[in-house]
Amino acid sequence: MPYYEELDDLPAEELLAWGLRTFGDRFAISTSFQKSGMVIIDMAARISSKVRIVTLDTGRLPGETYEMMDIVRRRYGIQIEAVMPDPLEVQLMVKNHGANLFHTEQTYRMLCCQVRKVRPLDRKLRQFRAYAVGLRRLTSDSRNEVHKVDDKNGIAKISPIADWTRQDIEDYTRRHNVPIHPLYALGYSSIGCDPCTRPTENGEDERAGRWWWEEAAAKECGLHFSTDGKIGRKLDILIEEVTQTTNGYGFDGSGI
Ligand code: SF4
Repeated sequence: MPYYEELDDLPAEELLAWGLRTFGDRFAISTSFQKSGMVIIDMAARISSKVRIVTLDTGRLPGETYEMMDIVRRRYGIQIEAVMPDPLEVQLMVKNHGANLFHTEQTYRMLCCQVRKVRPLDRKLRQFRAYAVGLRRLTSDSRNEVHKVDDKNGIAKISPIADWTRQDIEDYTRRHNVPIHPLYALGYSSIGCDPCTRPTENGEDERAGRWWWEEAAAKECGLHFSTDGKIGRKLDILIEEVTQTTNGYGFDGSGI
């Protein structure tokens, strides 16, 4: 994937300022309101009160994440653009594979992530030329080569705090009194959908609580890294089943 090597040394604030200045209202922060995302929101809001914030409402989020949406709206005076999955894709997926298909096997979990996260975000990102995310290299092996600015299908994907440590996040959060997602107080260290996230123990990897039943797998949903090989091919077939039928039926859901 091509990337903008010359931007890789810019500090987080400068990179966000560059994004806001260069792309204006076609720049957004994509966040699930975890600590890293909240740091980016806080920094960007200090630069511009007009920054756009996008979040994925998968339909399976914990109640505390909706609380965070309200907290952010009140604190920063910025409306949250919640992105929902295509209802027909969800309907067909659940009809074919059940509501909790993620427990069946990894490919079905990834199908759920594609339908509820990846595809909705891809559709939303067509409005933008750049977006910022809270990825950090130190959170897992699968993320240790994250660049500060990548090109994702013609859209600049900016990771302003890619080189930050967990302590950097804690320090910034304390210094600026940034709101903290309530689930951290209950032992969570990474927060996603309710049925797919659990608290972590001391000494566990930060993302160990995500899809914990998939012990050997990389803890990724497809938003940041694509899946290839045998699993990728099976996933493509499953996605096609859901989306082809959806396209054929139209958006009123008739015939299902
Ligand atoms: Fe589905 Fe779980 Fe992925 Fe959420 S995290 S989209 S519930 S598999």
